[in-house]
Amino acid sequence: MATVAETVRQPKIRHTECFINGKWVPATSGKSFETVNPATEEVLAEVAEGDAPEIDAAVKAARHALEDGPWRRMDARERGRLMYRLADLIEEELDELAALESLDNGKPIRDAKGADLPLVIDCLRYYAGFADKIHGQTIPVRGNYFTYTRKEPVGVVGQIIPWNFPMLMTAWKWGPALAAGCTIVMKPAEQTPLTCLRMAALAQEAGIPDGVINVVPGFGPTAGGAIVKHPGVDKVAFTGEHLTAQIIMREAAATLKRLTFELGGKSPNVIFADADLEAAVQGAHFGLYFNQGQCCCAGSRVFVEDAIHDEFVERLSELNRERRLGDPLDPQTEQGPQVDRNQFDKIMKYIDLGKKEGAQCVTGGERFGDRGYYVRPTLFDNVTDEMAIAKDEIFGPVMSVLRFRDIEEVAARANNTFYGLAAAVWTRDVGRAHYLANKIKAGTIWVNCYDVFDAAAPFGGYKFSGQGRELGEEGLKAYLETKTVTMALPGE
Ligand code: NDP
Repeated sequence: MATVAETVRQPKIRHTECFINGKWVPATSGKSFETVNPATEEVLAEVAEGDAPEIDAAVKAARHALEDGPWRRMDARERGRLMYRLADLIEEELDELAALESLDNGKPIRDAKGADLPLVIDCLRYYAGFADKIHGQTIPVRGNYFTYTRKEPVGVVGQIIPWNFPMLMTAWKWGPALAAGCTIVMKPAEQTPLTCLRMAALAQEAGIPDGVINVVPGFGPTAGGAIVKHPGVDKVAFTGEHLTAQIIMREAAATLKRLTFELGGKSPNVIFADADLEAAVQGAHFGLYFNQGQCCCAGSRVFVEDAIHDEFVERLSELNRERRLGDPLDPQTEQGPQVDRNQFDKIMKYIDLGKKEGAQCVTGGERFGDRGYYVRPTLFDNVTDEMAIAKDEIFGPVMSVLRFRDIEEVAARANNTFYGLAAAVWTRDVGRAHYLANKIKAGTIWVNCYDVFDAAAPFGGYKFSGQGRELGEEGLKAYLETKTVTMALPGE
């Protein structure tokens, strides 16, 4: 581990209460919960534990802001300007926010600064530019009528996010919702509430009217459940596990909410013998171990063509052994701890299972150090399709390498999962790349690259990996209703 002098300064924790109608308020129950530094297992702060009363107050504030407040009267260009201002404020505070994200989540500061924050800022700017470009159509209909459509905000939206990219998930949710003119009740994950609360304060500083953004920290079944059941919430946007999405779908049925889901995956990463091997090894390493393997689209099933299998495993193992684990606030650190004890235990259980099922553990397979939730980069070779480590979403630094011989075989095996979030193909053969890009049932296909994200490119899943898309114009549509207006014209 680095010495204190080498690490980034500890950021200030400024907000730990609920942010409702522009005010910081404690939970009416007086309850709070701990948010823990996963690198040290020490408590960072006590955070207000919001529940149904806070959600109800937040929904009322959001409804008022939507129907009666300045947000409704504000022209779209001004709405966009406030969003640009929020992005600017985040940029001005980039170092501090990155450090706070790193502290609460455990991600290396180099990733928080180099990946999360730039994507957050870009996402808000991308959607700010959309705010005044949302419009309907005039439609030629039969008869003597004038028909046009209006695009209106879907209303008050409940947004429930996970802990793996706390600020980025906040931006993915706020960007399109604000551009569309919606108002927001957000519940951040219990593990990582701090940066979302700071973003709410910056939104207020940017001039976004009170009540437009409300943030209620708390637990899933209580605060999250209250959002899902509240009759005043028009839509729920959720990112997390498919089992939670199933609960949300059931609980939202009574009020027939609009729902969008961004869920998990077991993404195949297919490497052909003709690929640029060095690029493929680097890409597979990044595609799985980035963010401690805590990515919905992690390339956790790596299919390697027989002819290059041994060399691939050897080179990848070398990278794994060189990976620098340590203090997330040290700029040299490449891998931090898992987010919490539960995730750590779940990953260690899968590692045990992989060993018992007969996969060969080539690197890692054990804890790193004796403090913090660190897991060494783990590589399992000789994995077969039936093993639990090849089927279940582990959400940790555990890669399964599977051999294949031909393209039809690998296409079928890649699709042999109920997930369908992402996939990658590494080859120099353009025809083969497009063939598999068509054949694999997943919302995103990367060719000769991995984890390339852009605010303009839609992202989401087939099958159990989601419903609807985030980002791009499609992400915006999920926050809009279409109203058709038809007017009889004078004359025949
Ligand atoms: P969850 O799906 O439980 O959590 C995601 C969010 O949903 C959190 O804010 C959580 O609240 C909330 N939530 C939980 N239960 C409910 C409910 N009944 N109603 C409304 N909201 C609810 O995922 P976990 O964090 O528990 O992680 C478990 C597994 O899920 C991981 O191991 C991984 O496999 C997968 N996952 C996938 C992610 C993705 O990006 N696709 C992200 C995170 C996890 P709370 O604050 O209490 O956690």
